Amino acid sequence: MSQTRTHDATEAQSREVAEASRQKEWRKPSFMKDLFLGDFRFELIEPFPNFGQPDREEYTAFMARLKQYFLEEIDPLEVDATGEFPADIVQRLSELGAMGMNIPKEYGGQGFTKSEYSRSMGLVNGYEGSTMGFLSPHQSVGVPECVKLFGTEEQKREYLPRCANGEVSAFALTEHDVGSDPARLTTSLTETEDGEAWLLNGTKLWCTNGLVASLLVVMARHEESGAISAVIVESKWPGVSVEHRCHFMGLSALQNGVLKFENVRVPKKNVIGAPGKGLRIALTALNTGRLSIPYGALSCAKKALQVARTWAAERKQWGKPLGTHEAIAHKITSMAATVFAMETVIDLACQLTDQGQLDTRIESAASKEFNTSRAWDILDDTMQIRGGRGYEKETSLRARGERPMPVERLMRDARVQRIFEGASEIMHLLMAREAVDKHLEVAGAIIDPKSTFAQKAAALPKIAGFYGVWYPSRWFSLKGWTGYGQYGPLAGHLRYVRRASQRLARQAFHGMLVYQAGLEKRQGFLFRWVDIAMELYAMAALCSRTHAMRQANDPNAADAAAMCDVFCRQARRKADRLFRELWRNDDALNTAMAAEVLAGKYAWLENGIISLDEEEAAYHAREAKKLSAGFEIPSEEMAAK
Ligand SMILES: Cc1cc2nc3c(=O)[nH]c(=O)nc-3n(C[C@H](O)[C@H](O)[C@H](O)COP(=O)(O)OP(=O)(O)OC[C@H]3O[C@@H](n4cnc5c(N)ncnc54)[C@H](O)[C@@H]3O)c2cc1C
Repeated sequence: MSQTRTHDATEAQSREVAEASRQKEWRKPSFMKDLFLGDFRFELIEPFPNFGQPDREEYTAFMARLKQYFLEEIDPLEVDATGEFPADIVQRLSELGAMGMNIPKEYGGQGFTKSEYSRSMGLVNGYEGSTMGFLSPHQSVGVPECVKLFGTEEQKREYLPRCANGEVSAFALTEHDVGSDPARLTTSLTETEDGEAWLLNGTKLWCTNGLVASLLVVMARHEESGAISAVIVESKWPGVSVEHRCHFMGLSALQNGVLKFENVRVPKKNVIGAPGKGLRIALTALNTGRLSIPYGALSCAKKALQVARTWAAERKQWGKPLGTHEAIAHKITSMAATVFAMETVIDLACQLTDQGQLDTRIESAASKEFNTSRAWDILDDTMQIRGGRGYEKETSLRARGERPMPVERLMRDARVQRIFEGASEIMHLLMAREAVDKHLEVAGAIIDPKSTFAQKAAALPKIAGFYGVWYPSRWFSLKGWTGYGQYGPLAGHLRYVRRASQRLARQAFHGMLVYQAGLEKRQGFLFRWVDIAMELYAMAALCSRTHAMRQANDPNAADAAAMCDVFCRQARRKADRLFRELWRNDDALNTAMAAEVLAGKYAWLENGIISLDEEEAAYHAREAKKLSAGFEIPSEEMAAK
């Protein structure tokens, strides 16, 4: 069995695989899907779900124990510096119940809601990032989530209690040639001669927890059919090995590695869900599993806000506190308003998911993208506000007698949030695909270059019927100019969202008309479109929450209204700019020049540095020198000694 075989895939094949594993059915309403179509259904998210419900006592007690454990037993600076957790961390976390937060009580877990689980992750991540990096893949996408969603009763009874009681799990999809595009997956499953098992062969890259996990969910391709299955593999089985521990820019204690599978016998009962549906399972688990990441990003942003606020008030330069210089003041305002928006966006997605009445897969992707990108902006602003101290390590600050505040560590730990569990660009593509879903359903035959003339002609009545009503109605909305009066000062922003959602829907339609089948490649257009949609989602969520706070006479209601107003003003300005740039931009020029840059035409720009090739050659030369030095025949004098 060759493990180096590459499964080459064309762009079209990659798209086909992604499309086949996409969850297509929409059995429940979706707030964002309707927003995409120009139908702003505020009533789906107002009243803000579960607003004002106190936490369950059991959960409050758990959070208090979790916090105490971290403060007493985990030193984030030591974890960062040594790249190791305390030796008993898994045992302690499982005693606390943190290994089974997502696992139903009947299988030995805590049975937390998505909201409770995600908030716990936020608490952890705002303090020490590697621990979230350990807990989240274990239960957000590892064996617990996949088996809970798709496993048989027998699998649930066997694996869930083990995971809740301290056995670590991991999720292995990525390979050397498989990152965002699973079409090239080469890890293989071949049926054994007795027909009762498969032999698993291949190498998986960057498997978080792979160094310590006893249970792995592995995505592998059936040699015979080419379909991809998700299988549960025990790391103690013969043929499973760790080839290398990976080290990263941040999250230094991550137990992440390259895993190798050589003729590992996997019983057929270990397939999760239907054979061949592995990618679908992985992507569905990620849909809600990734809700913990935006909470993690939020907690980094909250910590950064605390650092920035404290420092900008305390530090005086040019005769007054930093925060009173206008450039810094504006950053502080934007950070505070954005943190409020981030919290609201992810709270809404979690609460809607827990309620179960809406399909929240787009809100989940939007929350991940919105929060991880905003957290990065906030961290960057915080670094600027902290100046040189932001760039200095906390250990160095403490050693010279200054109070350490985490900025560089948070930055290093947070950056990967925009890469794993669905990179930023992939989140945009996922949302863009849903944005044009209805249009493809109605008018797909017209724009599909593979459609015959007869198929195009047959589609015309349906197209005329749908667009004849839908398109004119996306132009007029009395509510967009006079509605939402019951929401007082929020009404103006809600009217804007209504009008903008109609405009957004029209632009998607115009994009289809202009670019036709080529629209899927117009990422400049599509990504701006998605960015506008995310601003509208955040504005609507914020208005709903602010209104709920006012209705409940929440002591922070007035502050919330002020923050909501600031955020909505910023969001409207951004959306207006993006609307303009949908059609007036330099995309064609940029795409053309990128092709030339990639072809090396502008390589002369890189003159004056020591090039990558020179560095690599020098490294090998140094290594060769060290090697030959090691083999030097000792001199007579040395030999005598
Ligand atoms: C710390 C860490 C932990 C990880 N843990 C796990 C784990 O536990 N299990 C696991 O299976 N994997 C894991 N991964 C892998 C992670 O999920 C991948 O890094 C991620 O899927 C992106 O793949 P890639 O890095 O190969 O990037 P690529 O797919 O090569 O993409 C590189 C860049 O190009 C962009 N891009 C890709 N395709 C397109 C496109 N069509 N259009 C526009 N832009 C595009 C991407 O968004 C990205 O920005 C981990 C990675 C890291 C760094």
